[in-house]
Amino acid sequence: MKKIQMVDLKGQYEQIQEQVDSSVLNVIHSTAFINGPEVHSFQKELEDYLNVKHVIPCANGTDALQIAMMGLGLQPGDEVITADFTFAATVEVIALLQLTPVLVDVEPDSFNIDPEAIKKAITPKTKAIVPVHLFGQAANMDAIMAIAEDYNLYVIEDNAQGIGGSYTFEDGKSVKTGTIGHVASTSFFPSKNLGCYGDGGAIFTNDDELAHIIRGVVNHGMYKRYHHDVVGVNSRLDSIQAAVLRAKLPNLDRYNDARRTAARKYNKAFEGIKNIITPSAKGNTCDVSQGKICNTCNCHVFHQYTLRVINTDRDALVKHLNDNAIPCGVYYPIPLHSQKAYQDSRYNEADFPVTNQLVTEVISLPMHTELDNEQIDFITKTVIDFVTK
Ligand SMILES: *Cc1c(COP(=O)(O)O)cnc(C)c1O
Repeated sequence: MKKIQMVDLKGQYEQIQEQVDSSVLNVIHSTAFINGPEVHSFQKELEDYLNVKHVIPCANGTDALQIAMMGLGLQPGDEVITADFTFAATVEVIALLQLTPVLVDVEPDSFNIDPEAIKKAITPKTKAIVPVHLFGQAANMDAIMAIAEDYNLYVIEDNAQGIGGSYTFEDGKSVKTGTIGHVASTSFFPSKNLGCYGDGGAIFTNDDELAHIIRGVVNHGMYKRYHHDVVGVNSRLDSIQAAVLRAKLPNLDRYNDARRTAARKYNKAFEGIKNIITPSAKGNTCDVSQGKICNTCNCHVFHQYTLRVINTDRDALVKHLNDNAIPCGVYYPIPLHSQKAYQDSRYNEADFPVTNQLVTEVISLPMHTELDNEQIDFITKTVIDFVTK
């Protein structure tokens, strides 16, 4: 059996090696390292793929979130509501801009921000909601957009884990995640579903005026050379990364299909096993039961395949898998509201029952485009042995 990896960037590279190598070499020969034609072409190709009016490339996914908030003109003291159960980048940039993060609980099945909890957290100071399409599954955007409209709030989608996925609205309309809110961010970190070979990120919006503002913000607040109208940042996607991304973008749907195929095999092996809850991959509108993955609506792109293990010592399971040379991850082991940097006396433990429970139960299994049946069989057998013993 091939050595099992959490992500297999090497195997994926080997499939597109010729194209990546020649594109990267071309950039080197062109010496157009920054803002070269590769960046511009990638931007256009991603706009077409997503069916969004504007893609603004930048240096990483954390910058993308920060720049989106700067572009919207959020001011110190403005409250921004986001999920307690996510990667720290989301709350970090809110705090960095001296906005006030307001963390709320998530749903137990989708792991995504709970619209009812958002409603409860709204105050006159609330200006924006940041849903994270966690592990590759879209948050409940019907409900979130309705709340945003009722309370006149911005919606900033953190699409770092969701690229290529879709969301089908209750009226049947289906769009790509990251094109629903006022603005969205994504990351091209190597292990993301669309990853480059270093750091990279992008901001998406359908709003022409916001896109114009953001194009200045990423470039030192410059709209005319050496005229700095606003305080900006320096955040660029470099041409070598854009060349890699151009080679990978045409494969993104295939990559996400491979992830869903692996997820289906995992689900099948875990069917009926007590103490294991397989991830819900149920969009708002698709009619599939727990443990099944919709064939049509692409509502989960499995950035992570995350189980909940109940009545089981999760950390001992992690050790058991590692002892069997199976890598795994715990995303995320500590709720953000309990992190030293983000504690706030306004929080009450009783407000986070779901997150507090999930952090003790979740375990993410190897998930990438190159997993084979032998590996999946070995992983699932090893998990099942432990949880049923
Ligand atoms: C990866 C990630 C980010 C940050 O992306 P970087 O490119 O690493 O800065 C932000 N939010 C979420 C949910 C992520 O998974």
